[in-house]
Amino acid sequence: MWELTDCIVLYGPDLQPHACNRLVVEGDRITQLVLGEPRLTVEHPTWVVMPGMYNSHTHIGDSCLPDGATGLTLEAGFFRPNGYKYRELAKQPEAEHLRHMTAHLHYMARTGTIGHLDFREQGVYGCQLLRQASEATGVRSLILGQFNTLPFTEAQLQKNLAPLSPEALVELEELLAVADGFSESTMNDLTDAAWMQIRQMTRAHSKLRAIHCLENAAYRETSLAIAGRGDLERALDLFAPHLIIHATVANAEEIALLSQHHSNVVLNPRANANLGLPLPPIAQLLESEANLLLGTDNGLLNSPNLFAELDFTYKVAKSQYGDAVRPDPTDILKMVTSNIRPLLGGDTYGYLETGLPADLVVLDFTQPHLRASRHIPASIVTRVTPEDVLATVRQGKLLYASKAFNWGVD
Ligand SMILES: [Zn+2]
Repeated sequence: MWELTDCIVLYGPDLQPHACNRLVVEGDRITQLVLGEPRLTVEHPTWVVMPGMYNSHTHIGDSCLPDGATGLTLEAGFFRPNGYKYRELAKQPEAEHLRHMTAHLHYMARTGTIGHLDFREQGVYGCQLLRQASEATGVRSLILGQFNTLPFTEAQLQKNLAPLSPEALVELEELLAVADGFSESTMNDLTDAAWMQIRQMTRAHSKLRAIHCLENAAYRETSLAIAGRGDLERALDLFAPHLIIHATVANAEEIALLSQHHSNVVLNPRANANLGLPLPPIAQLLESEANLLLGTDNGLLNSPNLFAELDFTYKVAKSQYGDAVRPDPTDILKMVTSNIRPLLGGDTYGYLETGLPADLVVLDFTQPHLRASRHIPASIVTRVTPEDVLATVRQGKLLYASKAFNWGVD
């Protein structure tokens, strides 16, 4: 049994800060949460407990190449088959690659993240490697695999008729045996027939489907040229994705589509900005019925530190709203916590209540820049740094604890 006393807890799916007399963890659950009054401000230096965060879009495999694509375009840096990322990944020795991934999962735990959805390259081998890193660190990796090499020629993609070959179907079966789902770089990397086959197979195996859409205008234009409709429309119709990544250049009709489908949309504004792309329409999406999540994208582009992503997202959204009033910082914080529930369900909540899993982060609000906070959620979103994380806990187990952290153990 572990306990914290006299702290502040962001409580329930609305993340409302409350004084907390006692928080008890037994096994993997929160078994007691003795709450006081709601409290937006820090009255005396204390610890703040928030839900453990989910990073909904990473490529932890290329975290071994920090800033390697500096000066390269999106296509030259990241696209199949010959982009910098794919060329360099193919050269990584297995043991060293695994060490890099494990180190980055530790870094994620240190920065308050308990789980991530990873878009893993290198086929079955790539998925297995990340699975090992996840088991070594306790950080939950939901792995979305992709084909090791693209199963179609450029000419086949242009015709857009061929289904997956028997060999590709075997690889897909093998991928789904080790991964939690399937993703591909863009809709334009496979044929319409292949997308329908993959939808069917992932459904049969109860696996997740994710796709990068509308990262830049070329995604839409290429899709229009090949298939007569944009990549988002095609994805929703043929692939029925659980998760849509980017929506950077989504226009009003596309935002309306995402809203109608109540899509789970992962925004990655730092990665978009780092590639010189437009910023996603965060404010418009916040006004829609889409469920918004946040990701840090390639390790190559960004550190997988969600506090940095929260700060950037909040400020870009404020600028897009064009006033100092919107959005509520709690709505930004939900993108890495309680908004994960509609996507993953089961024993994943992304919020804290009695009886739920002890998936939490303890923040040091005794620090000079936090101990007089007049708005706790705003301070988490804009001021907390990795050094302020005292502990990260998943299902009652410490993934990370700083030297300053101790909790009462019985
Ligand atoms: Zn991605």
